[in-house]
Amino acid sequence: ALAGKTAIITGSNSGIGLGIAEVLVREGAHVILNSFTDREEDHALAAKIADGQPGSAEYRQADMSDGDACRALVDGVAKDRGTVDILINNAGIQHVAAIEEFPQDSWNRIIAINMNSAYHTTARAVPVMRENGWGRIINVASVHGLRASPFKSAYVAAKHGVVGMSKVVALETAEDPITCNAICPGYVLTPLVEAQIPDTMEKYGMDRDTVVREVMLQRQPSREFATTEQIGGTAAFLCSDAAAQITGTTISVDGGWSAM
Ligand code: NAD
Repeated sequence: ALAGKTAIITGSNSGIGLGIAEVLVREGAHVILNSFTDREEDHALAAKIADGQPGSAEYRQADMSDGDACRALVDGVAKDRGTVDILINNAGIQHVAAIEEFPQDSWNRIIAINMNSAYHTTARAVPVMRENGWGRIINVASVHGLRASPFKSAYVAAKHGVVGMSKVVALETAEDPITCNAICPGYVLTPLVEAQIPDTMEKYGMDRDTVVREVMLQRQPSREFATTEQIGGTAAFLCSDAAAQITGTTISVDGGWSAM
């Protein structure tokens, strides 16, 4: 359904971004994978996810903590492919500390990568989408764009900011065939999260199921992780014709967390 569409997904050599990329390639899109590294394995990953799929993929290095690099990523794709149809702002990092101890450099990096990068890429993508007469902007926010948790001040601030910016961009593009929305995942089973399970099992002396249900997913009413595949499916839905009038809103994929 996305044949002929070019999609940029920031921060997509692992986790949710990679999961979204796999779904979009399956739907026929040309996907640009991105991270700040430029390793052989990054490029190999693009080849791997496109193998045998209707779509295609390539990898482009750009550091999302650098505004000019964000802009150059979008400009480069627009120049090389003549279009940027889908922009998925997904790159993100986390740091956990009490507000009075929160390191300034961690604060600034989180705001830069999790929020400012979406401003820079969107600023460059909107004119291209207008010119080409179609566009989908999807910001991977978080349940922390809607709710708070202690010790996550920078992350919660950045994610609330991204949700707010999504609404403004939706209004500014409301009369164009462009939509802008935020996906708000709860806890998603990524390799990073998976890796925490054995340590947590040991720390609490619990089996895997109990750790997942009682410790990790304590605030997620479904007591199940969302999957990267499900976030990818949500992104694909937002790219579909059925979602053409969905703009300026959030879609929670959080097992009921934000209902509380
Ligand atoms: P992850 O660590 O697997 O992925 C983060 C991605 O961002 C990686 O590809 C990483 O290389 C990239 N990245 C980091 N710094 C970058 C930089 N300076 N420039 C370019 N790329 C950079 O984590 P994830 O869980 O897949 O997170 C993806 C997004 O989903 C983040 O915005 C995160 O806040 C959000 N999210 C995750 C969860 C969860 O439970 N995993 C829940 C809600 C929201």
